[in-house]
Amino acid sequence: MKYQIPLSTLDDGRDRDNWLISVQRVVDSVLGGAQECRLCRTPIDDQFLCQACIDDLPWRIAPWTRRLPQVDSVWVGFEFAYPIRQLIHRTKYSRDIASARMLGELWGIRLAGIVDVPQSAALFPVPLARSRMLIRGFNQAVEISLPLRRYLGVPLDVVSIYKPHARKTQSSLDAVGRKVNIRGAFKHRGRVAVDTAIIVDDVLTTGATVSAMARVLRSAGAKQVIACVVAAA
Ligand SMILES: [Zn+2]
Repeated sequence: MKYQIPLSTLDDGRDRDNWLISVQRVVDSVLGGAQECRLCRTPIDDQFLCQACIDDLPWRIAPWTRRLPQVDSVWVGFEFAYPIRQLIHRTKYSRDIASARMLGELWGIRLAGIVDVPQSAALFPVPLARSRMLIRGFNQAVEISLPLRRYLGVPLDVVSIYKPHARKTQSSLDAVGRKVNIRGAFKHRGRVAVDTAIIVDDVLTTGATVSAMARVLRSAGAKQVIACVVAAA
């Protein structure tokens, strides 16, 4: 399986050290140095997270195995556990764009080292309906995609797929309700310009959202669909 995240990535001490150093450098350069770790408040000079907190993040090691309709591969960065769960909630409910960017940075650095990104590919953040966008002011999936785009070296397409109307929040529904609620929620404008569509979202729960989006991407011409999510519950 070409796109499965290798289990060995985090077991190789040397690779691990290299990318952890990269994580610090990039997060520092993007968000500026902090006087204390954003998670544990340990005083630090020039980092955003302390080394111990980076080490303790719930990095997902096991590859994703559950089949999602219409989706060829699934890339998952973290378990949906502390502090990733809190950072994701902060992006959505406290409008903390910096947390969304940091999640994208952390995930992007690791992802770039463990996957082969297809030649003809683009990132497709899960869109928000215009009404929801006006209330929140930003789309967290887009904010996560901005650093991912840099690390994966693929363009971002925020135009081709859209969500005409807001639906109920998926997290308020059970698995069956989510499927019904999201059915037909996404539309496409014309055809997509790439063979491989990489859907970006913050958290994967039942997979109903990415499958609904994958269906639309396929009808818009995508030959392969990958789901790329920060965390899986
Ligand atoms: Zn810390």
